[in-house]
Amino acid sequence: MFESLQDRLGSILNGLTGRGALSEADVSAALREVRRALLEADVALDVVRSFTEKVREKAVGAEILKSIKPGQMVVKIVHDQLVEMLGSEGVTIDLNAPAPVVIMMVGLQGSGKTTTTGKIASRMKTRDKKKVLMASLDTRRPAAQEQLRQLGVQTGVDTLPVIAGQSPTDIAARAVQAAKLGGHDVVILDTAGRTHIDEPLMIEMAEIKRKSNPHEILLVADALTGQDAVNLARNFDERVGITGLVLTRMDGDGRGGAALSMRAVTGKPIKLIGVGEKMGELEEFHPRRVADRILGMGDIVSLVEKAAENIDAEKAAAMAAKMAKGKFDLNDLADQLGQMQKMGGMGGIMGLMPGMAGMKDKMAAAGLDDSLFKRQLAIISSMTKAERANPDLLKHSRKKRIAAGSGTDAADINKLLKMHRQMADMMKMMGGKGKGGMMKQMMG
Ligand code: GDP
Ligand code: MG
Repeated sequence: MFESLQDRLGSILNGLTGRGALSEADVSAALREVRRALLEADVALDVVRSFTEKVREKAVGAEILKSIKPGQMVVKIVHDQLVEMLGSEGVTIDLNAPAPVVIMMVGLQGSGKTTTTGKIASRMKTRDKKKVLMASLDTRRPAAQEQLRQLGVQTGVDTLPVIAGQSPTDIAARAVQAAKLGGHDVVILDTAGRTHIDEPLMIEMAEIKRKSNPHEILLVADALTGQDAVNLARNFDERVGITGLVLTRMDGDGRGGAALSMRAVTGKPIKLIGVGEKMGELEEFHPRRVADRILGMGDIVSLVEKAAENIDAEKAAAMAAKMAKGKFDLNDLADQLGQMQKMGGMGGIMGLMPGMAGMKDKMAAAGLDDSLFKRQLAIISSMTKAERANPDLLKHSRKKRIAAGSGTDAADINKLLKMHRQMADMMKMMGGKGKGGMMKQMMG
């Protein structure tokens, strides 16, 4: 699957040699393959459709990096969009509520609720030093309560003693009460599932929620869930209201498209993933990894990233060469300001360079700080090419024009020019020192 997909893409890409901006045709050709990859990964059809449309808008007209084929460029844009849609890293279970914090596990039968309950409890006990109580609300299958009790014995986590004949809502209320009396920090309610979504299940879940007031309601879903994922997630979210998702069986062969589907329809974060049957086999969710897996084009993504790095390195080398010759015009300054913004502003850059504290002061004295970057870039972009290459041209009338164009005043422009002169002098000095001088150090 993986190989053939890359082959298919390769054949399309070889036919495209355009440079510059991505054309509508480039994007369409690549998106056809991307669409197929997403469907093969079991992303729901609706989600694939809206996702590829969003990518199309972003991709058409985007700049193509040197040495990269248009289709590869599209794949990188798709990948980045996937990561963005899958959501942020490190959103985990929230225990920020008065004890006992109630966590309710919901999902279909066999999705992994009971196993995940044990995993979460075990982790909270050993890693977070929490006192946890687990309660099985699955009265439909007698073995279910025994399954949780055994996990409790295995992990050393308390389980609520079973009383025959109680309803799920009664058990929920009793669990919360027992946790209060027992001084538990957390109580996890392991509910019963059904083989498919039906009205009685939704009613039962809503009642349990009302009785136990959970702080977290986690939908546990099998990563192999296909087109049903959207329906499943939407129903549980609309009827019960979930706070997050747990994807199980991420250790299997599936590409995990359900992650994207469920995230897309609910907007709720994927908080954890299950990667095996054992109690320790619970992991944080890493959107990048899952995006790679869903798309199955990790090679292309790293290729494009490499190319982007090379371009930065090329730019840095060209700058260093220019400076070694003592040339540093306002175009270069604009480049520098742009780079500095990218690198986290003055503080970020100076922090990277040994012995640069003095320079920072000098620059500050010249009026250069982060808040001015934007204004200075505006001034430079209001200049003509000739003015940028030769700042000596900038006499009064030209300054007036530039001030009007950039929404600044003559004093701002003078400040910028003064700073440029100081930097040019400094760079001439440093450019002479050693191989490549300061810019090499600065830009790696
Ligand atoms: P429940 O009906 O939702 O409570 O599901 P269970 O917790 O009983 O799990 C059903 C089956 O899936 C059991 O055999 C579990 O061992 C297995 N299982 C649960 N989570 C995972 C996982 O992350 N990976 C794998 N490979 N198996 C899992
Ligand atoms: Mg169960």
